[in-house]
Amino acid sequence: MNVYDSNRIKDLFTKDNYEITNSIDNANLIVLNTCHIREKAAEKVYSDIGRIKKQKTNKENDQYKIVVAGCLAQAEGIEIKKRAPIVDFIVGPQSYHKLPEMLKKSEKKINDDFLQNEKFKHLIFNSSSKVSEFVSIQEGCDKFCSFCVVPYTRGAEYSRPVIDIKKEILNYVENGVQEIILLGQNVNAYHGIGNDGKNKDLSYLINKISEIDSIKRIRYMTSHPIDMCNNLINTHGYNQKLMPFLHLPIQSGSDRILKKMNRKHNVKFYLDIIEKLKKARPDIALSSDFIVGFPGESDEDFAQTMRLVETVKYVIAYSFKFSPRPGTPAYKLEDISDNIKKARLSALQSLLKQQQYNFNVSCIDKKMDILFEKNGRHIDQYVGRTIYNQSAFTESKENLINKLRTTKIKSSTDFALECQI
Ligand code: SAH
Ligand code: SF4
Repeated sequence: MNVYDSNRIKDLFTKDNYEITNSIDNANLIVLNTCHIREKAAEKVYSDIGRIKKQKTNKENDQYKIVVAGCLAQAEGIEIKKRAPIVDFIVGPQSYHKLPEMLKKSEKKINDDFLQNEKFKHLIFNSSSKVSEFVSIQEGCDKFCSFCVVPYTRGAEYSRPVIDIKKEILNYVENGVQEIILLGQNVNAYHGIGNDGKNKDLSYLINKISEIDSIKRIRYMTSHPIDMCNNLINTHGYNQKLMPFLHLPIQSGSDRILKKMNRKHNVKFYLDIIEKLKKARPDIALSSDFIVGFPGESDEDFAQTMRLVETVKYVIAYSFKFSPRPGTPAYKLEDISDNIKKARLSALQSLLKQQQYNFNVSCIDKKMDILFEKNGRHIDQYVGRTIYNQSAFTESKENLINKLRTTKIKSSTDFALECQI
């Protein structure tokens, strides 16, 4: 979602005649769009600010401005001002549409208003790609998992109206876009207003988007298991434009830990959903997020996570060491040792890597449709995505960008597939 927000910030300033530069030396406006989910992400911003400060001293152009946007700005605005006085403007994720105005007025107050729908009314949606675009359809979260800052930084759950989403997508379609990735912190809790004034669910929205001829692929992320309703599961069975790949985070394979995390579901509930999904779409591939070393996680709890991974067999997954975040309930719990967290993370990641490798190898000799996105590193090489979102590459004399081609998978590296048209 930060990629999406950064594109919107770029569009706002492009309208004000700014241009993107790839060299920080030329920049007179530097926007750091930040994340607050783990401590590492937050600390990275302060080190980036330090680096910019160093690079920018002794330069002719000392008129530059620094903006810190995003969730760190929302959560730690006052601290940023104290720790990094060089920062000129601080703006949270729900009020960044005000940035151009703040700059014009030199308004240096911290703007951390929660103006969700208001924000979208002022945004500009220029296509950043000719192939695939993110579209935010839902923001914020009311679930309050005990480790997570999102409900405090992105605010309460909010869904955009169907008509606004459709209009935005039509902009992208004009630029040739064929794939839409619907975004939300709890994307499957989507309940935006339809044209008849009634709330619509994600399955309705997906079916509406698939009516657009030029859209060939639809994906959505991130979903919460408790909002995986039957309507949505069934849509995976009949909507051919909805890709058979689902990012469905569970966080832990231990019911005891899931309870402490306030996840509102247990392992059985999660596995039942997967079973239903597989009934609807037998070839569906799954990914997840995991947190290891949550306070109180025992060896047995962790072993249960490993067993769950062995049962589900993920095609890809993201895993993190628990990071205590100020203001969240889990912050107050006793943190476990970093050595234990490290060892567990490494064991989990090698299992996940092995599963990813196995899945990629299982694709060899299969026929697969690839939507090509960009040039590869070599001459005449093109890179695209399979229906399962794996990266795939091939060589071709024909320009394949934005072409959907049926290919045969020839071989597999750790992270990508080589294919032949
Ligand atoms: N809404 C999604 C997740 C959004 S946050 C969901 O419910 O699953 C993205 C991921 O960051 C989470 O899935 C979690 O694995 C990780 N994460 C969030 N807070 C964290 C923390 N305090 N420490 C470590 N990882 C965290
Ligand atoms: Fe964070 Fe996701 Fe839990 Fe919401 S549902 S609190 S975004 S982890």
